[in-house]
Amino acid sequence: MLSNQYSIAEVREIIGAEGEIVKEDIISILLTDSRRINNAAEGLFFALSGRRNGHEFIAEAYSAGVRNFVVKEGPEIKLPDANFLIVIDVLAALQTLAIHHRSRFNLDVIGITGSNGKTIVKEWLYQLMSADKIIVRNPKSYNSQIGVPLSVWQITDRANLGIFEAGISLPGEMDTLEAIIKPNVGVLTHLGSAHAEGFENDREKVLEKLKLFKHCTLLIHNYDQLVAYKADIPATTTFTWSRNFNQADLYVFSETIIKKNYYLRARYKGDEIECLIPFLDQASVENAIVCWATLLAIGYSAGEADDRLEHLNPVSMRLELKTGINDCSVIDDSYNSDLQSLEIALNFLNQQNQHSKKTLVLSDIFQSGLPDDVLYKQVAELIKSKKVDKFIGVGEALLARAAYFDLPETYFYTDTTELLNNLLTLGFKSETILIKGSRSFEFERVSRALVQKTHETVMEINLNAMLNNLNYYKAKLKPGVKLMAMVKAFSYGSGTFELANMLQYNKVDYLAVAYTDEGISLRQAGINMPIMVLNAEQSAFDKLIEFKLEPVLYSFGLFDDFIKYVQQHGVLNYPAHLKIDTGMHRLGFVPFDIDLLRELLEENKYLRIVSIFSHLAASEAAAHDDFTKEQLSRFEKATQELEECLGYKVIKHLLNTSGITRWPNAQFDMVRLGIGLYGIDAAVDPIDTSLQPITSLKTSISQVKKIAAGETVGYGRKGVMLKDGAIATVRIGYADGYLRAFGNGVGNMLIKGVLVPTIGNVSMDMCMIDVSGVDAKEGDEVIVFNEQHRIEELATQIGTIPYEILTNISQRVKRVYFYE
Ligand SMILES: *Cc1c(COP(=O)(O)O)cnc(C)c1O
Repeated sequence: MLSNQYSIAEVREIIGAEGEIVKEDIISILLTDSRRINNAAEGLFFALSGRRNGHEFIAEAYSAGVRNFVVKEGPEIKLPDANFLIVIDVLAALQTLAIHHRSRFNLDVIGITGSNGKTIVKEWLYQLMSADKIIVRNPKSYNSQIGVPLSVWQITDRANLGIFEAGISLPGEMDTLEAIIKPNVGVLTHLGSAHAEGFENDREKVLEKLKLFKHCTLLIHNYDQLVAYKADIPATTTFTWSRNFNQADLYVFSETIIKKNYYLRARYKGDEIECLIPFLDQASVENAIVCWATLLAIGYSAGEADDRLEHLNPVSMRLELKTGINDCSVIDDSYNSDLQSLEIALNFLNQQNQHSKKTLVLSDIFQSGLPDDVLYKQVAELIKSKKVDKFIGVGEALLARAAYFDLPETYFYTDTTELLNNLLTLGFKSETILIKGSRSFEFERVSRALVQKTHETVMEINLNAMLNNLNYYKAKLKPGVKLMAMVKAFSYGSGTFELANMLQYNKVDYLAVAYTDEGISLRQAGINMPIMVLNAEQSAFDKLIEFKLEPVLYSFGLFDDFIKYVQQHGVLNYPAHLKIDTGMHRLGFVPFDIDLLRELLEENKYLRIVSIFSHLAASEAAAHDDFTKEQLSRFEKATQELEECLGYKVIKHLLNTSGITRWPNAQFDMVRLGIGLYGIDAAVDPIDTSLQPITSLKTSISQVKKIAAGETVGYGRKGVMLKDGAIATVRIGYADGYLRAFGNGVGNMLIKGVLVPTIGNVSMDMCMIDVSGVDAKEGDEVIVFNEQHRIEELATQIGTIPYEILTNISQRVKRVYFYE
């Protein structure tokens, strides 16, 4: 058997499970997500119960071919021919199995923790040492209680170095991660002072982190960060670096910038050594010093370390989804390539439903530790299982193995230039294209050719943050309460199918849009989950029904028209929703209407009322809580009366975002989550980092000029320079959604971490900011809003609400979606 294969009987023994073994299977793959199953035949599915009960997903995994399960209780439905290992704690079983697996290998393992930089340091150490080591490491930032066991499981007897990062958020978590990783070398990255949830104070948090090193023989750390913890350092030997303490093992005493490189000089073992780093920002420099110290500490010579650091590449953990040419979508992952990250990227490709055709552009993969024949057979299998339609392989190794790839369409080229020369013959049209390449193939040239060009103002949407927000609210829901996601108005300005794909994939129960057209676009992009239309126009009933959209009926006029329409078209039991006006006084049947509505409902066979709902007028405001309570009781009364006459159960729902936060007892059967998904909630303090802004708006400088005191700037000469200084013209104006109200110093933007005010009136396509005293150059990035400079702040500046800022960003601003 291979070193990561186990018989199911062995697994049962290792994790101490109950349950009968009905068939002898070999497992080699650990699965925790029923949507991402590959090699099901050798898969062992752990039914983890977290926010979603893992047991619900057993059936899904079973139908994907999985026959081995670790569960907390036996399945309710009997599934033939499957082994169920029953344990008290499924997560603990996963961890125990990983601990056992780790204990079988006697390789060097570097364990990394810290507040910032863990993933970068891990990826860089991998880059720096993969020329002479076969390395296993966490895929992306799989550093949690689940991610670490899955990462360590990748160790096989071929590997001779492990590099694993560990992240914690609660006291007590590190002991488990230490037991799984069992590092003999420790690396501590930057320690932030940000207060972490779950910890009393910084000291408690640092001590928890240090537990990772309790069996290390060597710990690499910044001397200054641990001055107060000298007595608590568990490792037997330390290698310290410092910019202040000249007795540190690596004392960095000089830092200068030479031709866009960062030049460091240091004292090491009595000698003066140097190192050139191709990055200038402080976080990268610090991470690179950590890597430098690590290389030296584990025995690389100073010359070797310098050589390697000079060739560090940026780490992009992001998968970016962009609008491509000819109605294509492009997923840009052109910075690195290995089997694990290919799988992650293919999963993301599979989440996309907007085009039926899926295309992969892939380069040769280096340093996999596998013989090429084995590697590319696995690649071909993986690609086939992920249902790629069109495959474009670039590189000699792939070209030589073209025969492995049995797909509808395949093309092979020796190098990137040859691909680019043939790009037009590939006929890209209405497809989703994943671009995945090793650094040396320079696939950014491919992505540049395939991504639609627009002006340089970009709104970035962080899909991970959105998922975080979704889970934040899900965790507040009582068991069984459904969730409707409000994606009206271009998903509050953030996109259409891109977000809906994510929501559908994450099993939200319902979507809601404002108008029929919006629903049609979602259907055309492959969204097949139920969609409610808040404001269905009479003129579009045909489309509504054609695209299986569900109208909200809010008045007798609309009710009659819709019934007439379905009657004439011979439709029965068409799903519809009723809206009750309990005090908002916008749309809806008022309490006085209920009796008549009951009569109409009683005799009708054309409609099936799926849900009844109402909307709160001031769910966020304590000052109106009495009124909210009144709305609540009106809603209860109305729904009770209507349900009685319908004779069947309907879904009742009342709460929007702030309602979910403030009115836990009014969840009824479903809630309607809107702006909270986008990271904003008037009832949650913006300082609370558990809710994350998902959008940032970035632009850039077209020109910088010096302006003397007394001169004026912009239309109407409204901006007056009070002192000699400089202004920058940036590529955003009111036509992009940066409203005129922000002009004349009311609004501000972030440049190189500094907030600078606008000066003069905002023009249609651009505006001016006062950059006096700031090192600003043409082409520099300027942040209009992001997680530091928040939308809430902008809203306050011009006396509006975040909803309006978000939905005003015009369609000409390019949206880029990323997934880390
Ligand atoms: C927009 C909307 C919501 C969502 O409100 P948020 O405050 O954004 O959560 C909920 N219900 C209805 C009827 C809406 O129109």
